[in-house]
Amino acid sequence: MKVIVIGAGMAGLAALHTLKQAGAEVLCFESGANAGGRVLTERQGGFVFDPGAQFFFNQYATCFRLADDLGIGDQRTAWLFRGAFPKDDGRFLPVVASINPKEALPNLGETLKFLAGAGIPFKAMKDFAGILPLFVKRYQEFGLVDYESALDLDRESLADFVVRMGGKAILEHLFQSVSAALTLADPEKLSAAYGMGLLKCMINGLNTFQHGLGTITERLAEKYADCIRYNAPVEKIVIENGKVKGVEVNGALVEADCVIPALTATKLLKIAPGLPENYVQALKKVTYSECCHVVFALPCKVFPTGWYALLTPRFTKAMVAGLSDNSVKSEYYAPSGCSQISCWTYERYAHDLNNASEEEIKRSQIREIKRFLPSMPDEPLFTKIYRWREAVCIGQPGMLTAFTKIKRHHYRDVKGLYLAGEYLNMPSVESAAYSGVFAATAALKG
Ligand SMILES: Cc1cc2nc3c(=O)[nH]c(=O)nc-3n(C[C@H](O)[C@H](O)[C@H](O)COP(=O)(O)OP(=O)(O)OC[C@H]3O[C@@H](n4cnc5c(N)ncnc54)[C@H](O)[C@@H]3O)c2cc1C
Repeated sequence: MKVIVIGAGMAGLAALHTLKQAGAEVLCFESGANAGGRVLTERQGGFVFDPGAQFFFNQYATCFRLADDLGIGDQRTAWLFRGAFPKDDGRFLPVVASINPKEALPNLGETLKFLAGAGIPFKAMKDFAGILPLFVKRYQEFGLVDYESALDLDRESLADFVVRMGGKAILEHLFQSVSAALTLADPEKLSAAYGMGLLKCMINGLNTFQHGLGTITERLAEKYADCIRYNAPVEKIVIENGKVKGVEVNGALVEADCVIPALTATKLLKIAPGLPENYVQALKKVTYSECCHVVFALPCKVFPTGWYALLTPRFTKAMVAGLSDNSVKSEYYAPSGCSQISCWTYERYAHDLNNASEEEIKRSQIREIKRFLPSMPDEPLFTKIYRWREAVCIGQPGMLTAFTKIKRHHYRDVKGLYLAGEYLNMPSVESAAYSGVFAATAALKG
């Protein structure tokens, strides 16, 4: 059996790994010069940068299994999500987002101080208490790949859900900034089911690999280097009489028994004109946030010790959803005494900056950091700019429901075609990896 995988991101590489382990003949076409897609790591001047995905949550079982297969399980490292929210007077209130008693209990005083000082009206806090029992009662339902019983929450947006359950103040003071920090999109855009899933992940802890999150995709790409063709965009998936025939690359047909497209939904729609209408309608529900991710390598620390992220709610009129100090992740992310600050521009600000010059981007983001952290130096050691036109799959209302139907009833409607990609589950690197394993397993079964 000959299988073609399109795209060497996390989904495609997970499919490749599964197929190779089963002894299948596989060829992977990647349009870019490198593997990883949105999970990659760059290294420069003693710093380690993750341009795309920043962390794995503790629920990323498929990713961790892959890491163990690759012999890098022992390079996993965890850190605390110590975030801080601004107050009206410009000061920040730190809070540890964790339900792990070992982390939560020692930080309880800080959490109470946060709740007391966040400026959230008493009535809103009372209303917020209405969300907590629901979250606790339905906690088990908010799985990343196993969420079917939470699909009733896929009908409305996270914003509508939070306002209905807790009121506007809770939305603006808590959920909006958390949603923006995790998806680079406002909560009006994503479904409540996805929002609850992310919240559950966030309070369960963050992980990376010591030498960069992209270690996992680097290792997979090294291991299967002989199967991957770089700078080889697939121009078309050829489907005839309800069956896959192969793909077109450089104008020539490459025949295959199975094709696993593991790319974004928008790109898939462009190269697969023969998809059935129900696939097309589901794929059209998939949207992505935009981000201009700017990282400054600094000769000093500008965040208070141990803080990972500053979350900036939209009422602060910040261009960024938040700022993070990535040197907290592991000792290898920045040389001793140095730090690296990520600026997460989002929504219209991201769009504007993605069309601006490097110098404009750099200056605007230094100004932005200084607003919140006045000790930010005027000249960083160097600056990295990553323009993501399609950053995080947003999971808008209805998307999870549409793909649940496809997976349950129509996954084999086109013979030999097995979809993969983060949009098939609750969007995340875990979802991408799981979808790749799922597609490869289905292809092997025939
Ligand atoms: C800034 C940023 C921060 C993020 N933070 C997190 C995070 O902290 N945690 C998390 O879980 N997720 C995060 N994400 C999302 C996460 O990175 C994605 O959900 C995941 O990596 C998607 O994997 P994928 O394989 O489905 O798609 P991709 O990574 O997009 O891979 C698709 C691949 O297909 C290739 N391709 C495209 N078209 C073609 C073609 N025609 N022919 C051949 N190849 C093609 C692309 O070059 C790419 O390599 C973040 C993303 C960004 C951008």
